[in-house]
Amino acid sequence: MAANSPDLMSTIVSLCKRRGFIFQSSEIYGGLNSCWDYGPLGVELKRNVKEAWWRSMVTNRRDIAGLDASILMHPKVWEASGHLSGFSDPMVDCKKCKSRFRADHLETLEKCPKCSGELTDIRKFNLMFKTFMGALEDQSATVYMRPETAQGIFVNFLNVQQASRLKPPFGIAQIGKSFRNEITPGNFIYRTREFEQMEMEFFVPPEEDEKWYEYWREKRLQWYKDYGIKSESLRLREHEKDELAHYAKACVDVEFLFPFGWSELEGIANRTDFDLKQHSEFSGKSLAYFDETSKKHYFPYVIEPAAGADRATLAFIVDAYSREGEGKEARTVMKFHPAIAPIKAAVLPLVKKDGMPEMAEKIYYDLLDNSIKSHFDIASSIGRRYARQDEAGTPYCITVDNQTLEDQTITVRERDSREQYRTSMDSIVEVIKTKMKDATR
Ligand code: ATP
Repeated sequence: MAANSPDLMSTIVSLCKRRGFIFQSSEIYGGLNSCWDYGPLGVELKRNVKEAWWRSMVTNRRDIAGLDASILMHPKVWEASGHLSGFSDPMVDCKKCKSRFRADHLETLEKCPKCSGELTDIRKFNLMFKTFMGALEDQSATVYMRPETAQGIFVNFLNVQQASRLKPPFGIAQIGKSFRNEITPGNFIYRTREFEQMEMEFFVPPEEDEKWYEYWREKRLQWYKDYGIKSESLRLREHEKDELAHYAKACVDVEFLFPFGWSELEGIANRTDFDLKQHSEFSGKSLAYFDETSKKHYFPYVIEPAAGADRATLAFIVDAYSREGEGKEARTVMKFHPAIAPIKAAVLPLVKKDGMPEMAEKIYYDLLDNSIKSHFDIASSIGRRYARQDEAGTPYCITVDNQTLEDQTITVRERDSREQYRTSMDSIVEVIKTKMKDATR
């Protein structure tokens, strides 16, 4: 199956359901359009993606601090940011078949791409979800579900700067849910109305903006490669001037070759000093930074790498999927990078007797006590158990066999090469830990 074939997408969607990566939300009620639930394997996978991002953006850096802002914010935030007046997509409807489209996603506005019927004029549709705060459902109680996490960072700019005593260039990072009432959600978890973002705002002296824009575009592209995504499935696409958002001086997308074509995974934008200035004006409280050296206040420029946790998870799933061999030998392998893989090791007693299950259990608990997420599987033949783990993307299978009873050694099987070797039972925790470390280097 070619990497960009639509069949691949339906194969992946059904594998995700069958193996417990991703289920349709409220499935027993017929599902809710564009809403998805992460099952036991999916939740581990997505957590690993978010942790890998947090490690590289916050934990391992001295110049970036973390934040966790609330989803509901003062309604004036969205006036200041331009979302109330400007955060809309152009929408058209087909007068004949009633299908709805995003006008900027159509090749022509002459006729409906589905039935060739006539299309309505373009209308603007605001993407923010509205709700009410408190008991009264009147206009004064209207609040919005944030459509991006970034604004929580901007309004906290001075709080974080003063508490952390970081000086520009420095960043504030956050992971959290965002909501957009998308006109045409779809492509599984690629475009949904509720999703998770991983955003970082990097505040720099205005004259250094281009240097840092270059820095972050390379750094973010490399992050996906470091966690195993094939280089040929990734590219950078610079935005044309007429594509830029109202606040942006430049923007580049990291794109991935999904089964439905090249599409955005992450955007890296130069947001200038737009947001800090707007919030200063609308709140009446200056968010300018005081530079001790020059003894002057200034508004830093902002370089923003904004990624989606769900889109990244989908890219890791698509990239990992591989079908190998023929006939009875055929197998599906999810070749996740070990740091991303939901389950790191599976412990498999060869047979259900001779003390093998007990020995295997001991290894299993040892792994869990060392925070190595593992599975224990005793059902069916060893070949079928390997196949189950290959499909879940487990990088290491540990087998307890007759020889284990004699000399306390076990077999480790590597998922991708299927190579097998023996090592001592006591050393397995260290062996797996070392492998995990090597893989994240
Ligand atoms: P698009 O052009 O696909 O609508 P965007 O350019 O509006 O996306 P940004 O505002 O730059 O997206 O948001 C940053 C990131 O958040 C995106 O790169 C994507 O990974 C994620 N994201 C945005 N909208 C959605 C959505 N509806 N569903 C899932 N992820 C999303």
